[in-house]
Parts: sequence; structure tokens; C-alpha cells
Amino acid sequence: MSAKIKIIPFGGVRENGKNMYAVDVNGSIYILDCGLKYPENELLGIDVVIPDWNYLRENKDRIVAVFLTHGHADAIGALPYFLSEFNVPVFGSEMTIALAKLNVADEPKVKNYDDFHVVDEKTEIDFGDVVVSFFSTTHSIPESMGIVLKTDEGQIVYTGDFKFDQTAKPGYQTDYARLGAIGQAGVLAVLSDSANAENPTMNASEQEIAESIEETFNYRNGRVVVACVASNILRIQQVFDAAVKTGRKVCLTGQDLEKIVNTAMNLGKLSFDDDLLVTPEQLDSLDPAETVILQTGKMGEPIKAIQRMANKQEKTLNLQEGDLVYITTTPSHAMDTTVAQTRDMVYRAGGEVKAISDEMNSSGHAYKRDLQLMLNLLKPKYLVPIQGEYRLLNAHANAAMELGMPADHVFILAKGDVLTYDKGTMGLGEGIDVSDTMIDGIGVGDIGNIVLRDRKVLADDGIFIAVVTIDRKKKQIVAEPKITSRGFVYVKANKDLMQESGQIISKAVQNNLDNKEFDWGHLKQDVREHLSHYLFEQTHRRPVILPVIMEVNQHHRRASSKDKANTGKEQAKDVKAPAKPKAKSKPKAKGSNAPKAKTAGNKAAATTKDGQATHKPRRNRKRRPHAAKPAETTDKQ
Ligand SMILES: [Zn+2]
Repeated sequence: MSAKIKIIPFGGVRENGKNMYAVDVNGSIYILDCGLKYPENELLGIDVVIPDWNYLRENKDRIVAVFLTHGHADAIGALPYFLSEFNVPVFGSEMTIALAKLNVADEPKVKNYDDFHVVDEKTEIDFGDVVVSFFSTTHSIPESMGIVLKTDEGQIVYTGDFKFDQTAKPGYQTDYARLGAIGQAGVLAVLSDSANAENPTMNASEQEIAESIEETFNYRNGRVVVACVASNILRIQQVFDAAVKTGRKVCLTGQDLEKIVNTAMNLGKLSFDDDLLVTPEQLDSLDPAETVILQTGKMGEPIKAIQRMANKQEKTLNLQEGDLVYITTTPSHAMDTTVAQTRDMVYRAGGEVKAISDEMNSSGHAYKRDLQLMLNLLKPKYLVPIQGEYRLLNAHANAAMELGMPADHVFILAKGDVLTYDKGTMGLGEGIDVSDTMIDGIGVGDIGNIVLRDRKVLADDGIFIAVVTIDRKKKQIVAEPKITSRGFVYVKANKDLMQESGQIISKAVQNNLDNKEFDWGHLKQDVREHLSHYLFEQTHRRPVILPVIMEVNQHHRRASSKDKANTGKEQAKDVKAPAKPKAKSKPKAKGSNAPKAKTAGNKAAATTKDGQATHKPRRNRKRRPHAAKPAETTDKQ
């Protein structure tokens, strides 16, 4: 029987991290990894980015399970969010599952989820159309595995993060024979790690790296402060080993560390004697040459911690004269500037900096020749380079073509591409929409492009708020525009600009008041346009402009019966988030059916979309608010 197969990336292609791929075999969906990405250069306040799984939501019932390759955040990080929506089993190695559980335990919504299954390289899981098995690989965290989906059309192989290293220790070793056997059995397509594909130089072996760390500890006469990503268990092990050999004690710092180290220790994946570790207090009684401070955390955190230590901002441990800061894991390129700044800070604090990556290629990912070896072992018919930006995927494609793989057998996919294998041919089918889901604080996915664009504008050019109070009946501006700005210009030094702006606003408002067809949406738009034009002319900046138009004279009008009759149609209060909460909820339910209101409402909605207004427009209220203090209520916004 022939199978219909689809391969869909939800992340991990043309970007660094956030690995998540779906393989659909005859309608059953197998998820490979469920990772997150830390935003590069601090993406306007976003904490993490996870894949957008709208498509999976619509096809919930077809998801079979999630299979994990290893315990890094780019493979398991999105799991807590995923499992809060999808109740499916999760498979991975002992170490990976232990870390996945740690992750999930932090998320209240999925605290009780318990459908984890530990597998190893001998496990085979039969799902009928598909048999899933695993093979051990070498990476910077123990028990990393690749995944094989055996179908009637051949095998689909996902390597996960890997490299080859002949000196790898148990727990980190690649099963070469098994790779050869998988290749012998026929591989239809391989999804293979491209993160280091551009690199033509061989990775240093872990043995060489271990020796280098030991040498550094040996020759250095003072304290060594090691910066290392917590998830690089292999490097932490090497630091411990080198400390033992050179007679140093280790002091652990960093938030994430204890948990990960404890997990690894409890599982016997990290070995050292208890007397190796010391507390910060014990450090004082030791000769600096007998100590190592291990500073760890999530990606990017160790470097930031070193900055704080250099600036003497840490509570317990700060840098001192003669310290060597030793960067043992390579930060991503996005961190280059930060790393350069950090080096400077360390030298100013009287220390020195050394990085393993200055001397050798210490990546945990396969370099070009390793990738070619993987292809030679697996002999796939098709290659899908994954895990990396476009240029890396492209470099991987070129490496494959050097081996004689035809160009049309290599697919550089984008998120949401649907690679389809049907009746003997592989090709791109109709794609699906896949974007990113931003997480800021506890909000998942409530930050969209509009919010981000506003943050960008606010960061670039600031905000300009103009409050005007009018009396619509008398067609008068009651209080002259009150202007507030933040991050735009220094107000005191720009009095003329502010004054002129005030006049422009007044003029626009008066024009609208004089117009018979008065419309709130139009008024605001008008103010914004005139002001924006003027401000750009004067400053070449485009701040967010927030016109706030207030109306007074409610009491007068209430007394008039004629006005009362008109209320439903023309009342268009535009008070921003009022101080009285009850006023906020009432208008929504009332008077939403007047035709005029609809037009005005739509315009106002567009305003909101623009990000210029943060309030709900309140129109056609049968019961009017007592807008006695309009200026006060707005001023605080
Ligand atoms: Zn990894």
C-alpha cells in the first residue's frame, strides 16, 4: 500500500531555534520537537517566541504524539504551551523527559499533565502505518536522539541537533552502525541540522576542549569565572572534571542551574563528588587559585550575569582584580555586541577574558563534513535542511550537492510549506499559514504585529499626546490643547514647537466644529494628520500621536428636553478610560443600534487598530455620563 506523506515545518527553518515539524502520514500527524526561540536583540519586550499552531488546532484529532530529540529549549521549550492545548503523549529519552517535566511543572495550566514516555535507542513504537524508532547522537546534552518514522514509502529521518565526535563519552556517543543500518533499509527523506553548515573547519573534539579547560585552570593563578549555558551539561561536566584535576572548588551561581544540574545529577548524567561544590561564603576562606565560579543560566544569561558582576551589581559575588572570565559556550551571533561590551567591562573591573571559541571551533552542531558523513550514512532520496537561517540551509544544500544529490531533491522550506510525497514524487503542495506566537509575561499570543509595530514606533520616535476640551453645542474649544510628550523631544527646549503644535490642533478642531457633518473619527484623524505632517517637517520624526478630545457641558444639555431627544444619535462622548469603572461597562450594552453610531464606531475601531487609541469609543449612550472632570480623567493616560 502506498502512503501519502506531508512534511510541514512550524519553525526551525530560516531561523535559529524553535524547532517543530509535523510529519503527516495518511492523515495521522506526528510532531517532531516542540521548541521555542529567544528573541534576538531583545525584540521589543518579547520574552520568548513559540510556533503558531493554528493549523494543528484545526486538526487536533489527527495528532498522534510529540517526539523529542533532546532537552534544549529549542527542542522542548514550547511544550508547556503546547500541552495546555493538546492532550497527546510525549516521547523522549530519560534526560529529555526529565527536563521536559521540569519545564511543564512551571506552567500552572499543565501542572497535572502526565503522559510522558521514556524511550531509548532500542524502542520501537508501532502506530500501524508508521513505526517510530530512535538513534543516539552526539550533542552537548546527554541522551540526544534522532527520530525515524518508518512508512511504506521508506523512512523519514529527523536528526535533531547533532555532531560527530570520536572522543565522545558514554551518554553522548553516536551509534554509527545503527545509522548505517537505517541507510541500508532505505531513507525517503532526512530533515537534518544545518546550524553549523557554513563552517568548513572541523569541530574540536570534546577531548581537546576538556584538555583546554584543564590547561586554563592549571596555568591561571587566580579565580576563574566560567560563563556557561546551563543546558550544556557536557561543558559543565568538563568544568567539574578540570576543577577536580587542578585542585579547585566550584561555586555555582545562576537561577536555572540548580534545577538542571540537580536533574542531571539525580539521573547520574553528571558526576562529581559532593565536596567539589562550595558556597559563596566558603569562597572567602579559599585561595583564589583554588576556586572556580560557575555562572550559568539560559541562553544569554551568563553573559549578562558577568556584566553585573563586572559592575559590582551582584548580591553575593562580583568580579575582583585578577579574575579570569572564561566563556566556555559560544553565544549566538545576535549577542556579538553584548559580548564585546562585556569584555570591556571585565577589563575595566581588573579582570581578563578568554573564550573557548577564540581558540577552537567548539560548536555542538555538525560542521560541513559531518553533515556530508550523515548523508553518506543515511543515503536519503530527499534532503530537507532544517535548524538554521536561510544561508545555513543553503550551505547545507550545497554540501549535499557536492555529494551528487540532485538540486531538485533538496528542499529549502519556509514555515508552513507543505512538502508532499504522493505516488512516487515529492513536491511542494499548497502551503498553510504559520506565523510566530509572541510571549510577553504571562500573555500567550496576545501580542500581535500591531502591538509590536507600536512598540517599535514608540521606541523610535516616542509619543505625542494632545488633550483638547470642547463644547460641541457652542462649537467652541473650551480649554486650549494640553500637550504631553514622552521620548519625542525635550519639551522645555522646544517651546516653540509645542506652541505651534497647539495652534495646529486648535485649528483642526475648530474646523471640525464648524463643519455641519461633525464626526469624532474624522476629527481625530484630522488632528493626527495635520500634526503628523507638521512634526515630521520640523523634526523628521514620526511619534505616535494620540489626540484625546473631551467634551464638557453635559449638565446643560441634559436639562434641555430637545437635546434629550437627540441623544441617541449625536451623543459621542470620547472620554478615555474613565475613572469610574461602572461607566465603562454600561455603554457597551446600550444604544448600539443607531445607524450613525455604526459609522462612527467603525472609524473609531480603525483608530484602535492603529494603536492610537486605547479606549473603547462610547457613543449613543442613552444615559449620559457626568463628564464633570474630563481633563483629569485623560491626563493620566
Ligand atoms: Zn541543542
